[in-house]
Amino acid sequence: MNNKTARQDAISSISEKEIQKSAYDHLQEPAAQMFGNKVFSDYLMKQRLPKAIYKSLKKTIEEGNPLEPEVADVVANTMKEWAVEHGATHFSHWFHPMTGLTAEKHDSFVTPQSDGRAMMEFHGKELVKGEPDASSFPSGGIRSTFEARGYTAWDATSPAFIRDTTLCIPTAFYSYTGEVLDKKTPLLKSMYALSEQAMRVLKLFGNATSKRVITTVGPEQEYFLIDKQFFYLREDLVMTGRTLFGAKPPKGQESEDHYFGSIKTRIMECLKEIDAELWQLGVNVRTRHNEVAPAQYEIAPIFSTSNIAMDHNQIVMDTLKKVANRHGLACLLHEKPFAGVNGSGKHNNWSMATDDGFNLLDPGDDPYQNAQFMVFLVAVITAVDKHGDLLRAAVANPGNDHRLGANEAPPAIISIFLGDQLTEIIEQLETTGHTKDSGKGGKKMEIGVTTLPPIPKDATDRNRTSPFAFTGNKFEFRAVPSSLSLGGPNIVLNTIVAESLDELATQLENSIKGGKTLEKAVQEILSEKIKKHKRIIYNGDNYVQEWIDEASKRGLPNLKTVPDALPILLEQKNVDIFAKYKIFSPRETESRYNVLVEIYNKTINQEALCTLNIGKRQILPACIRYQGEVAKSLAAVKSVSSNSEIKPQEEYLKELSSLNSQLATKLVELDKILGHEDEDILKHAKYFRDTVLPKMSEVRQVADKLETMVDSQFWPLPSYAEMLFLI
Ligand code: ADP
Ligand code: MG
Repeated sequence: MNNKTARQDAISSISEKEIQKSAYDHLQEPAAQMFGNKVFSDYLMKQRLPKAIYKSLKKTIEEGNPLEPEVADVVANTMKEWAVEHGATHFSHWFHPMTGLTAEKHDSFVTPQSDGRAMMEFHGKELVKGEPDASSFPSGGIRSTFEARGYTAWDATSPAFIRDTTLCIPTAFYSYTGEVLDKKTPLLKSMYALSEQAMRVLKLFGNATSKRVITTVGPEQEYFLIDKQFFYLREDLVMTGRTLFGAKPPKGQESEDHYFGSIKTRIMECLKEIDAELWQLGVNVRTRHNEVAPAQYEIAPIFSTSNIAMDHNQIVMDTLKKVANRHGLACLLHEKPFAGVNGSGKHNNWSMATDDGFNLLDPGDDPYQNAQFMVFLVAVITAVDKHGDLLRAAVANPGNDHRLGANEAPPAIISIFLGDQLTEIIEQLETTGHTKDSGKGGKKMEIGVTTLPPIPKDATDRNRTSPFAFTGNKFEFRAVPSSLSLGGPNIVLNTIVAESLDELATQLENSIKGGKTLEKAVQEILSEKIKKHKRIIYNGDNYVQEWIDEASKRGLPNLKTVPDALPILLEQKNVDIFAKYKIFSPRETESRYNVLVEIYNKTINQEALCTLNIGKRQILPACIRYQGEVAKSLAAVKSVSSNSEIKPQEEYLKELSSLNSQLATKLVELDKILGHEDEDILKHAKYFRDTVLPKMSEVRQVADKLETMVDSQFWPLPSYAEMLFLI
């Protein structure tokens, strides 16, 4: 009965942890001490680098020029000196392989000298380029192991930082053939593609000052924190990130007393330390609060450029786990750790801004800015309507299949929420080619002549059920799963908007060449685009059946699961758009598809094996032991009781025994179906979805029923109530 003691020990030790203080209380010092001191920020570069070197580096960062070797040497040495002063002994190229996680390999600065001594050295070529063995990273068929050479190249636009005595250098990762093996490179390419097309539009509007357009992202990260001892007692959480068993607790989230609630002391100590550590790493986290489900929280930084946001989000996820661990907690980033309880997402707030700081999705306050805003807004509407399927595929992961469409997250149907006011303006623009002031007696409002009415930014106006919502000066892509890298969704978003900006720019340029004024051209072209793409706009409740029916009438795809969504990537139009904007070659697109399908297959296989393991080695043995106890005591009681008196207990034993038999049978069935093999990875994925997952839930149903009957002293796994409420 070791399990029983472990579980009970876990419960009894929790009360003591409440009073544990953060080891980081000294960080309650002036913010300046926390800020930036582990990041080789622009401020530090400017302070420490010779002027000419700094200028040259800035040029590289801003214009993407190659870094001269002499410049790289000075930068590397300066970085090293700073890093060593701050306790670093190692450096590492830090990158985003297709696993969706990050990878690092540490080398120390210690370099042997010819006279036998060793010095702390770091050279330009080590800063700029690395050569990790690429053979054990997923490539989706691009590179075979015998040609395993892979390279990393410094992404100078994302600053280096020190973590655990290591200077981490954000890098891109590619193969010997130049084909890309990571999520950073295509993201940078997509940002570049969007910038190029957006600049064409800005030029038409007479913008002569901006040099580039930058895409910005601010992700809201949801996660769970539970006691670490419970986590360790759940093989399912440890191995797969989600509970594969667990009866509903007597209290769930229906009391709605957790959302924005007062944060428990023990959690607060952990959150304070998370914030402090992230600030040190240059991640400007701003909000923290309790989320809807018990034990669920959210953290959001101030937005930054897409590539830095991606780097930072990985640092956030990593830091959440590490700091939680120090506080005796486990951070769960899975999309659905607990069945029947809200899961976690990652709202991807997204916009476009000029390098001189103007947000292109801000309506602005004069007619000229308004017209420009309408062009960018319609570009996004067009892109999302044309490529909703790609956006859906970009958020497909095994965990998200438990959320999308489950009335807690947006459905798998991609649509846009614009709000009533903006929708009305859009509709007027469609019919008349110009907008009218709403409700004020038909005062005409022409593009480029009069101003838009103020668009509300108020949070209360927002529709929380839409997968893609306009929130005043940005879009919030809400279907992104909590554990996913920000790379995929933002690569797609940037690429599809680049395409529609490209089309718009070409049409506007031609129209103007043909003698039209900019205003006239904008009116005509936007009107045509809106007519074509307005079906994507939906301001109602996305959770109701009527919307699903309506969406199907509108021809909007409803790709419910990963095996439905991923094949989209291979459709010609999608292969073409990535190739056209030089994001992925057709071979690279195919390789991404392979990697993603294989991740799905491996995940479900691991979940199924884990279900078997827990079922066969923990739950069934406990239930049979308990059944024996009941049978024994029943036999003993029988000699002194009448038949009618003992009957209900016999029924209880019978039900127990019947459920035990069912569990044993289902486990054998699950075991059997796992032997399946298929050359075709997509067919295999569908087999996992249609045959394996349903069998796993049959096993679970029986086991969960048993959990409500079996003496809790015998039950080997921490219950939902214990995990969600005991902190
Ligand atoms: P809510 O929960 O109300 O949606 P939060 O304040 O939790 O809002 O998060 C909003 C996120 O949107 C923040 O990360 C914020 O930095 C980000 N954000 C704000 N403006 C922009 C923008 N122009 N581009 C990208 N992200 C933005
Ligand atoms: Mg939020």
